[in-house]
Amino acid sequence: MLAIAAARLGFRCHIFSPEAESPAFDVAAERTIADYADDTALVHFAKAVSVVTLEFENVPVSTLKVLERHVPVAPGPSALAIAQDRLSEKEFVASLGLETAPYRCVNDPADLERALSELGIPAILKTRRLGYDGKGQFKVNSASEVPTAWTALQGAPVILEGFVPFSREVSVIATRASSGAFTAFDVTENEHRNHILACSVVPARIGAPAAKAAMDAAHRIGEGLGYVGTYAVEFFVVGDGSDERMIVNEIAPRVHNSGHWTLDAAITCQFEQHIRAVAGWPLGNPMRRFDCEMLNLVGEDIGAWSELARQPSTKIHLYGKREMRPGRKMGHVTRPLLRQEQTRCRDF
Ligand code: AMP
Repeated sequence: MLAIAAARLGFRCHIFSPEAESPAFDVAAERTIADYADDTALVHFAKAVSVVTLEFENVPVSTLKVLERHVPVAPGPSALAIAQDRLSEKEFVASLGLETAPYRCVNDPADLERALSELGIPAILKTRRLGYDGKGQFKVNSASEVPTAWTALQGAPVILEGFVPFSREVSVIATRASSGAFTAFDVTENEHRNHILACSVVPARIGAPAAKAAMDAAHRIGEGLGYVGTYAVEFFVVGDGSDERMIVNEIAPRVHNSGHWTLDAAITCQFEQHIRAVAGWPLGNPMRRFDCEMLNLVGEDIGAWSELARQPSTKIHLYGKREMRPGRKMGHVTRPLLRQEQTRCRDF
């Protein structure tokens, strides 16, 4: 989707991927298939392009450092390093005076028992690195589960998070240019199933002060990271009405699934906004054109594609992934929400 947005602006994309079948190859001018640790391939790639960006936060920081010696890289390795590690991410967010879930660093089962007694049960044990879509997480419901939890995460460095009794989950998709210019899309409300984003609805059903607090937090995070490009900040909303509090859950240093609605319902989409920032262009207008919902096609949901394609107001996006696997994001649809329609996150 980034390559498509770039092509619309007249750029030719060169994709570097360790995977032989990256869907981006289908829509880009050039490709390099090589390992992230292959310095020769990286230098060759860096010399062939004007700027490098990424669409996946688990690219090793060392890879970006090699590239950065030859070509501008945005977002840069220092922003990525913070966002790749849940502990440094939480410490960074707290250093800005923003609220996070309570957490403890855990190095062994004794630490875990102590952290559980401090944070209470239930709590969520999360690997510090490489977790997404619920992978690398274990919800601990009782102290007797400590050995199971510890084994499940296989001794990887972890943190324990206190369980946040949120009323909603929302996200802000924001873009920061190297000049410091900042734009953000309207706050999006997200519903997860099996830890995977199922549905996003815009605008989120939160009050104006809560929405402003989320925007301000996202802005401060982008400034603090010296970030260039589009990024997402996910929040838990605690409380209701005038008591809403925003708790930062996670920073995603990339375009984000909960911003996919912007492809169809914003003047400038998150992908174009990212390319503009990375290319040093002025940012576009992020204004929402209509209220909408975005539904992910996860795993076998993809079987509904021909039915969805028949619905005239449903915009369908299929990712061209060759293999369907349970839990794999295969595509998504966006459709307008009509004013009288109060049901949210309908099934398709
Ligand atoms: P994460 O990968 O950290 O975004 O977690 C995936 C999902 O698990 C979140 O979107 C929440 O629905 C749930 N979750 C994660 N951490 C917590 C928490 N500390 N309290 C309550 N729910 C959580």
